[in-house]
Amino acid sequence: MPIYQQFIKHILNPLDLWRSGDYAEIRYFKEFERTQFLPPDELQELVWQRLRNILHLAYCRIPYYKLVFDRAGIVPDDIKTDSDMLSVPILEKRDVQTNLQTMLDPEFPKHRLIFDQTGGSTGTPVSYYYNIERKWARQAAALRHDCWSGYDVGQRLASLWGAARDMPTPGWKQKIKSLIFPKILQLNSIQMTPKLMLEFHEQLKRYRPPIILAYANALALFASFLKRQNIIVYQPKGIITSAEVLTLEDRQLIEETFGAPVFNRLGCREFSVVASECEQHNGMHIMAEGLYIELVRGSRHTENGETGEILVTDLLNTAMPMIRYRLGDTASWDTGTCSCGRALPRINNVAGRVTDFIVGMDNRLCSGVALATFIVAKRPSFGQIQIIQEEYGKILYRIGGGKDRTLNQDGIDFIRQQTEMYLGKGMQIDFEYVDSIPHEASGKYIFSRSKIAQEIFR
Ligand SMILES: [Zn+2]
Repeated sequence: MPIYQQFIKHILNPLDLWRSGDYAEIRYFKEFERTQFLPPDELQELVWQRLRNILHLAYCRIPYYKLVFDRAGIVPDDIKTDSDMLSVPILEKRDVQTNLQTMLDPEFPKHRLIFDQTGGSTGTPVSYYYNIERKWARQAAALRHDCWSGYDVGQRLASLWGAARDMPTPGWKQKIKSLIFPKILQLNSIQMTPKLMLEFHEQLKRYRPPIILAYANALALFASFLKRQNIIVYQPKGIITSAEVLTLEDRQLIEETFGAPVFNRLGCREFSVVASECEQHNGMHIMAEGLYIELVRGSRHTENGETGEILVTDLLNTAMPMIRYRLGDTASWDTGTCSCGRALPRINNVAGRVTDFIVGMDNRLCSGVALATFIVAKRPSFGQIQIIQEEYGKILYRIGGGKDRTLNQDGIDFIRQQTEMYLGKGMQIDFEYVDSIPHEASGKYIFSRSKIAQEIFR
């Protein structure tokens, strides 16, 4: 590690955290560095100790949970095993939206509370609070998972991101900080014109960040653009992708173009990093010391390998406990141990959000991302495809941005054939041609959306 970077990591960064009152982040980081390698039974005991603690705290101090537990006819002592958790009602986003004040510990000191809210790209924003200790733990957790990709404190970083709220205008303190600490080279994924992408490519070559952090689809778009330019692409040491579903094709494209391994991640505004890949790229290890994760289908937990909805219980937010919060994303459990030696359980997050699934003719669930990318991979002239399902037995293919302004019979036949293979016989298919398929306001790209997929899960 270069001397200046060591100076930042061991002297300047701790000093800066100490000055801002956030030094405890380092304590959490050291703790998480250790606990990730605990033997499985000790890690399990740690998680359950924290889970029991948060359940008790919620029942004793939080008006909302007192009511929820009483209505369900349970007390925290009833929860002794994973399956006992099924008796605790699921926390929906709308529950948090309507009960914000009664979900907060009335005795919690206001000056130690942090208010935050989700971006709302998939609906009404959800507002919530967490305690300042949780902030430190979140930052430490994100740093631990960043380090799995080869990142270290004090290194340069590039980001291809879209959420404008995550990029605040710097104040004078930040400006001074940016003179000392390496800045983050940013490309806003909401605007990815050829000119801006070429500029970003030049900046990458000059700045040479070892790690690139990116929205998966935005980086895939950037990669395919660079590939077409026939230029020598800057090669970082590692790439962290997040916020969107990473398809196998996109992973290959990104890894080939940038000559660096991809570390995929599942994160969210509410809980920061939920799970991410280690250097073995063997599913994603969950942030188990801070989050108790369940995967459910209806009123049961999923079998190993079966896709289910992710429920999150935040083990460290003592100001506003969130118990069995339905994230909206799906995943399946990955079995067996990981050769990295970390006992943190692993999930696979292939299809993403519940609404990203398309419902087939026999109620089968098909990943809309997989179907859309498969079709475009086989017929690149379509440009982009978005699949919309408003009702059962019917789907709309929105096609745009490609060379083909209209579909010829061969294209139509191909799509019909693939639809039948993936979704079953008898699906009604409509087509719509658009100039280009826009990103969401957050900069994310939506491959598919089904209004009825959630009925299958719940
Ligand atoms: Zn691992």
